[in-house]
Formats: sequence, structure tokens, C-alpha cells
Amino acid sequence: MRRGSRSAPPVDTSVPFSQLPVVVIAGRPNVGKSTLFNRLSGRRSAIVSDTPGVTRDRKDAEAMLRGRRVRLIDTAGLEEAPPDSLYGRMRASSELAVAQADLVLFCIDARAGITPADAHFANWLRRQGRPVMLVANKAEGRAGTAAALEAYSLGLGAPIAVSAEHGEGLADLMGEIADRLPPEVEAESFDDDDDDSLALDGSYTEGEEVVVPPRPPGPLRLAIVGRPNAGKSTLLNRLLGEERMITGPEPGLTRDSVAVQFNDDHGPIELVDTAGMRRKARVEEVLEKMSVSATLEALKMAEIVVLTIDATLGVHDQDLQIARLIEREGRGCVLALNKWDAVEDRIVTRQAISDRIEFSLSQMRGIPVVSFSALTGSGLKRLLPTIRAAHEVWNKRIPTGELNRWFEGALERHTPPLVEGRRLKLRYMTQVKARPPTFVVFGTRAELLPEDYQRYLVNSLREAFTLPGTPIRLQLRGTK
Ligand code: GDP
Ligand code: GDP
Repeated sequence: MRRGSRSAPPVDTSVPFSQLPVVVIAGRPNVGKSTLFNRLSGRRSAIVSDTPGVTRDRKDAEAMLRGRRVRLIDTAGLEEAPPDSLYGRMRASSELAVAQADLVLFCIDARAGITPADAHFANWLRRQGRPVMLVANKAEGRAGTAAALEAYSLGLGAPIAVSAEHGEGLADLMGEIADRLPPEVEAESFDDDDDDSLALDGSYTEGEEVVVPPRPPGPLRLAIVGRPNAGKSTLLNRLLGEERMITGPEPGLTRDSVAVQFNDDHGPIELVDTAGMRRKARVEEVLEKMSVSATLEALKMAEIVVLTIDATLGVHDQDLQIARLIEREGRGCVLALNKWDAVEDRIVTRQAISDRIEFSLSQMRGIPVVSFSALTGSGLKRLLPTIRAAHEVWNKRIPTGELNRWFEGALERHTPPLVEGRRLKLRYMTQVKARPPTFVVFGTRAELLPEDYQRYLVNSLREAFTLPGTPIRLQLRGTK
């Protein structure tokens, strides 16, 4: 099966890693999944660590398959976790990965033939409703033709024979994978949101509804930030519920899992920059002071940020500093009061923290607050729903009609002030963008609108349309 060379389309490098189509390599232990993963991702050295006791994380890499960028996930190694039956382990380890797969490569060992474990796994896989391709590995030099034929009985279509170790059949395999992927989506520009990028050009006219392409489906990107010792790693481990993915005798040893994913009831959530957290955890000196640049890096990649504070210590200036960074970067925020188990007077503590936040962070009024113990898990079940809600607010779009009905009322309640002896005439408002919600006010000399009036508009907008805790951007456009 040879494939003619096609003229390759230009590679779109703007799609973030987390939004690439996901190709998952699954199968029973020892069929050659890691070998195939390394081949397809072009990784020469296996990430498999020789250090005893260091668990292998789920491997996750970008690969280029006939001009298509994909996110390749290797489930190998996960089934080595101790308990239960082999089937149970295989399933548990693959469930998460398969659930987010755009394509599953189900590998068998063509030399070994179809084993009961293969058949069992294939059965389960067929019921997951994800597209599956059957890969018969170790088929170098026509070995395993019999097994390849037998593999039809798995009900997963025609097997593709390859030898991952000897590099045979891989070009065909890559082509088949590329053909089976969902069509390419256009990347939403996941902008950095500095204020300049928000500026509209002069072509924007009043009343024009801005059409924004729909967001490609992808996981919610979450960052956990906070001062050293606030309990970020403890929280991370709790959320993942899988100690082995994060903690080990030597955290930070592998460079894998720069982003780890888990699912809640609404779909996948990706924790960004966990590698950064692990790196930091290794180096004692860095723990001494908060690394602003690492925090910034995480913020830029995230949609929603969980600002974790040690509630026994109250709100520290550095916490406010981080909160301002979150505001500046335009990310949604959830305030996590951790170590709640160790707080003595909860009512007083909560009030003191809320007061400080409301007073010092008026730009993020109504910021959602969740108190819990990452250590014991108590109170933690509210965190994910709160994150989801914050994400919705951050993504919210208000129809122009509705917005302007409110705007008229707001102008009536408080007449815009006189500037240089003349009244400003504000005419119209529209939301030009979400993530975070961004609005433009048009009017004669609107650009001269004083700060306190802007604040009034933002606060009342926040209340009227229930936008708690998200940064809100307001731009002013003077019309002649
Ligand atoms: P995993 O447990 O499924 O990830 O399997 P590995 O990738 O660790 O491979 C298991 C064993 O099969 C290793 O000894 C590999 O060298 C071997 N192997 C992998 N691919 C091939 C292949 O194409 N042909 C042969 N003969 N052996 C292979
Ligand atoms: P990080 O530096 O933010 O990653 O913080 P760690 O997760 O390493 O936690 C710092 C210390 O706080 C550790 O000794 C944790 O056991 C402890 N810790 C974390 N969460 C809690 C909690 O909910 N309650 C209590 N009492 N201690 C906690």
C-alpha cells in the first residue's frame, strides 16, 4: 500500500498544543506502544526512566504526521500500577486518554497473535465510541501475517502491519492516521490580551456585530498559582487523584506531563505548567521567593487561574500581587482558601479575607472564593464547579440589544459627567470579545470618560449580567 506524495498544505503552527487532535496509543503491555510512540513522535530516547521507583508518566508529545500536527499520547506504563486484574488496569489507565481521543491506535503484537487480553480490550474499546485503528506491530519481514488475519476477528477493521522497532510500514501508518483525523479547525487566536491588541482599527463602525469564530473544542486550561507552601502541589495531587502522576521519589526527573489532564463531569481540564511546579519543588532556594516569571508563564497559558492561599496566614501582599497579574493578563480567577482544616475561627477568617480582597482588588469584584483542605479533601468538591462557572463567565457574550437596553438605563441612573464644561454624549455599547469580556463604548468625546464613571459602568455591568470575578475590559471610542 503505497501512497503518492501529495502537495503538503502549509503547516498551521498557531494551534496550541492542547487543541491539537489527540491520537492515543493503547493496547496490552509489551506490544510495543512506547516504541511506536517514540517512532511517531520522533523521540529518539525513550522517556522510560531507569531509576527504580520512578513511575512513568503518561507520555504526551507533539508529532507531525504527513503535515498534520497531532498530540500523541502513549498509555504504556500506566497498566503497571499494582492492584486488580490486568484488564481492569488496562482499562482504568486508558479510560481518560481514550475519552479525549480523536483517534485510538489499538496495538497488538503480531508475533504473539491475538491474546484474550487483546480481545477483551478490543471489546471494551469498541464500546467507547471513539474511532479506532488497529495496528499489528512487530510485523517486520512479513512476520505475523497469520496474526494480522486473525486480527480481523477483533471487529476493528483491517489491521495495519508495522514494525515500530525496525521502522517498517510507518509512513503508511502516518498517512492512514492523517486521513482519519477530524478536519482541521482554525485556531482561535489565543491572544495575550495586552491592551494594544484590543484596539479596534478605524474600520469598526457603530452597530456592527463582530463575528467571532466558534472556539475549537478543547480542555479548560487551568493554572494553580500561589506563594510557596500555599499547598499547590497537594491540591494538584488531590485533583488528579493519581499520586503517581505527580509525586515520586524524585519529582521533576522527567520532562513529561508539562500539561496533565483529568476529567470532571463537563469534560477535560488541563492543568498547565505542572512541570514548572515540579521543577520549582526540587530547588529549595527557589521556594524562598515567589517566582513571578514562572507564575506569569502559567497565567499566559491558562484560561482560569486558581489563586491558592494559605488561609491560616491570611492574605499576603504577594497574593494581591499575583491577583493583579491575573487581572492584568485577563484571566478568570478563583480564590482558593486552603488549609481550612487548620483555621481556628472560620467566620472571622473568611470575613477578613473577603474584606481585604474586595478592598484591594476592586477590579475583580465578586471573585469566587472556595475554602477547603487540600490535605484532607474536605470542602474540595466545590472547587471544580466553581472553576467551571468562572470559565463560563469568562467566556460570556452579551447580545448587543440586551447590552444597550441596560446601557440606556445606566446612563439615566447616572448622567455622564461634564468634561471641560461640556457633557459627554455616550451613544452605544457593544461587546467585541470574550475571554475576558471586552466592551467598547461609543460616543462623542467618549475617550474623555473619567475613570470613576468607567468604574461605575463596569461595576453595574458586572451586576446586571452576572459577571463576578472576571476581568472586564472597557474601551472608549470617540465619534465625531
Ligand atoms: P509497551 O509495553 O507496549 O510500551 O511496549 P514497548 O514499546 O516497551 O516494547 C515491548 C518490547 O517489544 C520491547 O522489547 C521492544 O523492543 C519490542 N518491540 C517493539 N516494537 C517491536 C517490533 O516492531 N518488532 C519487534 N520484534 N519487537 C518490538
Ligand atoms: P506548594 O509549595 O504550594 O506546592 O505547597 P505544598 O503542596 O508542598 O504544601 C506545603 C505544606 O502545606 C505541606 O507541608 C503540606 O502538607 C501542607 N498542606 C497543604 N495543604 C494543606 C491543607 O489543606 N491543610 C494543612 N493543614 N496543611 C496543608
